[in-house]
Amino acid sequence: MTTLVHTLGYPRIGAQRELKRAVESYWKGESDAAALEREGARLRHAHWQAQRDAGLDMVTVGDFAFYDQVLNVSTLLGAIPPRFGRVEGEVDFDTSFRMARGRAPSGEPAAACEMTKYFDTNYHYLVPELHAGQTFRLASQRLFDEVAEAQAAGHPVKVALTGPVTWLWLGKAKSEGLDRLSLLDALVATYGEILARLADAGVTWVQLDEPALVQDLPSDWQRAFESAYHALQSAPVKLLVASYFGALGDNLGLALGLPVAGLHIDLARAPGQLPAVLDRLPPDKLLSLGAVDGRNIWRADLRQLATALADAKARLDGRLWVAPSCSLLHVPVDLDNETQLDPELKGWLAFARQKLDEVVTLAHLLDGRETDADRARIDSAAHALKARRESRRIHQAAVRDRLAAIGQADTQRHNVYASRAVAQRERLNLPLFPTTTIGSFPQTQSIRSVRRDFKRGDLTASDYEARMREEIAQVVARQASLGLDVPVHGEAERNDMVEYFGEQLDGFAFTENGWVQSYGSRCVKPPVIFGDVTRPEAMTVRWSEYAQSLTDKPMKGMLTGPVTLLQWSFVRDDQPRATTCRQIALALRDEVADLEQAGIAIIQIDEPALREGLPLRQAEWQTYLDWAVECFQLSAAVVRDETQIHTHMCYAEFNDIIGAIAAMDADVITIETSRSDMELLDAFQDFDYPNEIGPGVYDIHSPNIPDQAWIVDLMVKAAEKLPAERLWVNPDCGLKTRGWAEVEPALANMVDAARVLRRRYA
Ligand code: GLN
Ligand code: ZN
Repeated sequence: MTTLVHTLGYPRIGAQRELKRAVESYWKGESDAAALEREGARLRHAHWQAQRDAGLDMVTVGDFAFYDQVLNVSTLLGAIPPRFGRVEGEVDFDTSFRMARGRAPSGEPAAACEMTKYFDTNYHYLVPELHAGQTFRLASQRLFDEVAEAQAAGHPVKVALTGPVTWLWLGKAKSEGLDRLSLLDALVATYGEILARLADAGVTWVQLDEPALVQDLPSDWQRAFESAYHALQSAPVKLLVASYFGALGDNLGLALGLPVAGLHIDLARAPGQLPAVLDRLPPDKLLSLGAVDGRNIWRADLRQLATALADAKARLDGRLWVAPSCSLLHVPVDLDNETQLDPELKGWLAFARQKLDEVVTLAHLLDGRETDADRARIDSAAHALKARRESRRIHQAAVRDRLAAIGQADTQRHNVYASRAVAQRERLNLPLFPTTTIGSFPQTQSIRSVRRDFKRGDLTASDYEARMREEIAQVVARQASLGLDVPVHGEAERNDMVEYFGEQLDGFAFTENGWVQSYGSRCVKPPVIFGDVTRPEAMTVRWSEYAQSLTDKPMKGMLTGPVTLLQWSFVRDDQPRATTCRQIALALRDEVADLEQAGIAIIQIDEPALREGLPLRQAEWQTYLDWAVECFQLSAAVVRDETQIHTHMCYAEFNDIIGAIAAMDADVITIETSRSDMELLDAFQDFDYPNEIGPGVYDIHSPNIPDQAWIVDLMVKAAEKLPAERLWVNPDCGLKTRGWAEVEPALANMVDAARVLRRRYA
C-alpha cells in the first residue's frame, strides 16, 4: 500500500503577499468585494494546484482566510459577539472584518475582538468570545463554497478546521463566572451539522486541529475531548484529529482513544513520541506523521527521516500518512523567490513550496518507489546538509571557546541592587519619579525615506549619517525642552528592533520575500539565524555617543535583548535554542561594554518576547526561564555598579514569572500598565519586587493624549503598591508608531505629572 501525503495547511498570503494587497485595497475602498473574492479564489486555486503538482494525494480546503482561520470558524459557527449586530442569515464579509478590526467598509464600527498569539507561534488569531447561554448555528456558506470550488477543479479534498475543543480552549469567557465547557454540547451539535453538510458535499476526510492536546489539560478538558468526539462519532465523514507543536505527553492515551479514524502527531517537535504511539495505536486507526518541520525553514534530511520512519511504515503500511508537522502557514511561501540569498545558505533551506516536495519524496522513499526526481532531491539534500554540518560559515571555534569559558561570575552584577542603587544615585543625580521614554520617537515619513534612500544606494553613507544626526539633534532638543530626565536618541536609524541588530550581526541572514503572516494583512520577515553569532563591530555606540554629546542629562542607550532576537527569528536546528541565545547574549555583552566605555550611563536591553517564549508545557517553564534569564544577565552583567541597566517588556502579566523577572536583576524595568489601572502591578507588590519600576502611564497604542491628572492618579495608585522612591514615569512602549502632534503634549503632561508627584512625595 502506498503512503498518503497531505498537508495540514498552506500559506494563504501568496508568494508576493498578494492577499495583503487585495485585502488592504478593499478596506481602503479602492476595490470592491467581488474583486477581493476573485483574488481569494485565484490564490486558493494556485495553492491547491501547487499541492497537486507536488504530488499530494489531497488538497486542503478550509485553511484559506481573508483574515484568520480561527475567525472563520467563529463565523461558521455563528459565534458573533452581540456588539456587531444581530446577524440572521449568512455572516457577511464586512461583519467578520469588523470583528477583526473594529471597522469595515460597511456597517457601524465596534470594538475589535481581542487578538493573541496562536500557541507558541508568532501568528495571531482572533479570540472567540463566549457568553453564557450562547447558541451556535451554521452561519456561513463560505467553507462549502470553497469545497465546491476545489471539487470543480478536480481536486480530491480534505477539509481542515479548528476542532471544537481547541476552539473553546482558545476562547475567552465574557460572562461573569462562565465555564466555557458549558457551551461544549451546543458547539459540538453545530460541528455535527457542519460535518453532515460536508459529507453531503462528497467530502470524506475532515481534519480537526486540536493542538490543545499538547498542553497541560485540566481533567474536565480531557473529558471534554472524550465527550466531544464521542458525539461526533456518528458524523458521516472520517475524522483526522491533528495534534501539533509538541508531544501529546500525558494526553497520549486520551488522543489515541478518541473514536476517530486517524491521528496526526508532530515528529518535528517531538520525535520521541513515535514508538509509544506505534505501540498503542488502535488497529483501526491511521497515523499521520508530521515529519517535516512546519515551523522552521531548514531543508529536511530525507534519507535520515525515511530511516527514522521505516518502523512505522513496516508496522502500519496502508494506515500511514505523512505531512509537515503543522500547517505551513508558519513558514514563508517559496524559496524560489529568493534571488539574493547566498546560494550555499539557500541550499540549506526549504519554504512551504519546497516542504510539499519533501513530504512527497519522503513517502516515495518509505514506499520504495522513488522516481528519478526523488533521487535527485534526496541526493542534493544530503549533499547540502553535509556541507551545512561542516560549513565554516556556521561554526566558529572562537565563539564556542568563549561560551565554554563563561562562568557564574559572568552572569552576576558585581554587587547587589541596593549598593548599585547608591552608586547610580550618586552618578546620575536623578529626581524622585524620574521621567524617560522607551527609546523610539515618531518615525516620520522623512526618516523612512532617508533610510530607504540609503538602503537603495541613493544616499551616500556620509549624507545618511548627517541626516540621522540631524534627527537625533532634533529629538534631543525636544526632550530637553520637554524636561525629560533621561533622554534617548530616538532610534530613527532602526526599521525594526530585530532586523536592525540582525543585519549587523554575523550568523544572521535576511530573505527578500520570506514573509509569514503575523495577523490579518500584517506579515513579518523573520531573519534566519544560520550560524554562530558574532558582532563584527559596534552597532549602536556612535548614535548614543553623539546623542550624549548634545546634553548633560544621562543619555539612555537601547538594545534588543538576546531572547527577543532569538524569539522573533527562524532559529538554527542544529544546536539547542539556549546555545544560540547565549551566543547572541555574548555579542550584546560586547555592545553593552562598548556603550559603557563610551560614557553611556544607562543602557536598556528590551525583552518584549521573554514571556511568549514560555514552552507550552508548564513542566518545561523553569528550564526555559533559567537560560533566558541567564542570557539577559550575560548581556547585562558586564557593567560597573554605577551603570544602570534597564529592561523593557510590553506587558505586565508577570504573576507566574515574577521570580524570573526579579532574577534578571535589571536596575529598572519599564512595563505596559496604563490600560489596566495599575492592577497589573500586584504581582510586583506581592512578590516584594526589590528593584525600580516604570509602570507605563501613556497608552501608546491609542491616539489619545493622557492628561496630567490622570497620570498623577495612575502613579499614586502605583505608589500605594510600591515605594515611591523606586518608581519611574514613562510611556507603555516605544513611540515610533505615533505622531509628534500627540507625543509632544502627552510627554509634556507626563513631565508635569512627575513634578506634581515630586511635590506630593518629597
Ligand atoms: N526600544 C523599543 C522602542 O522604543 C522597544 C520596542 C518594544 O518593546 N516593542 O521602540
Ligand atoms: Zn514595548
